Amino acid sequence: MPISWPRLAHLRHVLGRPSLRGSASWTRLLSFSPLARLCARQGSGAGSLAPGGTIFALSSGQGRCAIAVIRTSGPASGLALRSLTAAQEPPPARSACLRLLRHPRSGEPLDRALVLWFPGPQSFTGEDCVELHVHGGSAVVSGVLQALGSVPGLRPAEAGEFTRRAFAHGKLSLAEVEGLADLIHAETEAQRRQALRQLDGELGQLCQGWVKTLNKALAHVEAYIDFGEDDNLEEADRDVRALEAALRSHLWDARRGQRLRSGVHVVVTGPPNAGKSSLVNLLSRKPVSIVSPEPGTTRDVLETPVDLAGFPALLSDTAGLREGVGAAEQEGVRRARQRLEQADIILGVLDASDLASPSSCSFLNTVVAPLVTRSPDSSRQRLLLLLNKSDLLSTNASPMDTTLPPHVLLSCRTGAGLDSLLQALKTELAMVCGDPFTGAPVLTRARHQHHLQGCLDALGHFQLDTDLALAAEALRQARRHLSHLTGGGGTEEILDLIFQDFCVGK
Ligand code: GDP
Repeated sequence: MPISWPRLAHLRHVLGRPSLRGSASWTRLLSFSPLARLCARQGSGAGSLAPGGTIFALSSGQGRCAIAVIRTSGPASGLALRSLTAAQEPPPARSACLRLLRHPRSGEPLDRALVLWFPGPQSFTGEDCVELHVHGGSAVVSGVLQALGSVPGLRPAEAGEFTRRAFAHGKLSLAEVEGLADLIHAETEAQRRQALRQLDGELGQLCQGWVKTLNKALAHVEAYIDFGEDDNLEEADRDVRALEAALRSHLWDARRGQRLRSGVHVVVTGPPNAGKSSLVNLLSRKPVSIVSPEPGTTRDVLETPVDLAGFPALLSDTAGLREGVGAAEQEGVRRARQRLEQADIILGVLDASDLASPSSCSFLNTVVAPLVTRSPDSSRQRLLLLLNKSDLLSTNASPMDTTLPPHVLLSCRTGAGLDSLLQALKTELAMVCGDPFTGAPVLTRARHQHHLQGCLDALGHFQLDTDLALAAEALRQARRHLSHLTGGGGTEEILDLIFQDFCVGK
């Protein structure tokens, strides 16, 4: 947002009040306001810089490691580098050079490190940046951080501040910032791919294409309003309707990206003793649930986050479904049914050696059959039927009942059939999350969905047979929503929400 001169004067007034110096709000105000950039440009570094000026932080993980990366960003970065290396000139831009680092005050040697100099604007943040690749021992890291802190004009960075500066300097769009946050937190292969696509700006590019369509349509409508030229009005109408269809299809898809980001709900269900807890332990590779031949052992819903075939999932073990039990188990069955409602994927487990039992038949009739007979379009949930304990089937037993729905034969005891199960699960998960390798960029956050819906709602008011001024306003409104999505009109609150996910040093 461009800053007005009265606002600038007000900021100067605020900065002049000693009582506010050093307060958190003052620091924040300075860090990201255009005034800070103004001060930063005017100040040559030392002393003259406000606390918003030059930041430093450990950017690699905490704890002992071979190499730790410490970086700075801001106009005093060059000064910091010169102070620590006792050199007049920084090394050549973007080339790694070996240098002895010393404490600027005591001259005490700190480490022999690789240093990199990134003069702005060709840097991650768009400002002058320095990267110090030091040995990862905690004494070295804290020594170098202390040394940087002693350089005038430098201060420790706040969480996400490097990325926030990159955003403020137009190096990253808001969607790319979100992609970066997701990439840092990605725990599975599919999450990593999705985040990387977003960081590459695919969602932003898609929005830019839509904005172009809106701009073109707006130009045609305005040409008609101003000059009475209606040659292109029909084309504008066609383009807007096509855009509506595209937005609808993305919104239809929206839950997929969010599921991939936050994890797919996979619920294990079945009659007692079928091997549900054994399956949860097998898939999570840890003893999450108690396995026992005694029916009704699992009462509460037990959840565990797992990486299933590269997709993030929240796996829930639930009480065996049966009637006529005591009050505590009945409550367990109620919770199990409730959790079943929330599932994206249901893993229905039956004992393959006990398919004719009343509990197996009841499960097939009441849980499996309704899900199988639902048309795929209307089905939000997907079902995988598993016949466990295949090791108990004798090799010359009669073939499986052909009326059973498609299923995977498995033995949690021997592990037989596990590969087929993972393959089938991967297919189901890809259906639920979308394939992060291909296809259109997905909307990964509720915020994206909100603005896309807002854009679509605005286009609903684009009617050429009524007041054209209103139609033009509808297009402008739609464009505003897209601009909010990529951060063009980003408010401080949204920025705060997004950046709170970041760690210090990023
Ligand atoms: P749940 O009540 O459905 O959670 O079933 P559990 O996982 O607690 O298992 C019930 C019993 O079946 C336990 O004694 C398990 O050791 C046994 N079991 C589980 N999976 C298998 C399997 O694949 N083969 C055999 N033979 N027994 C199994």
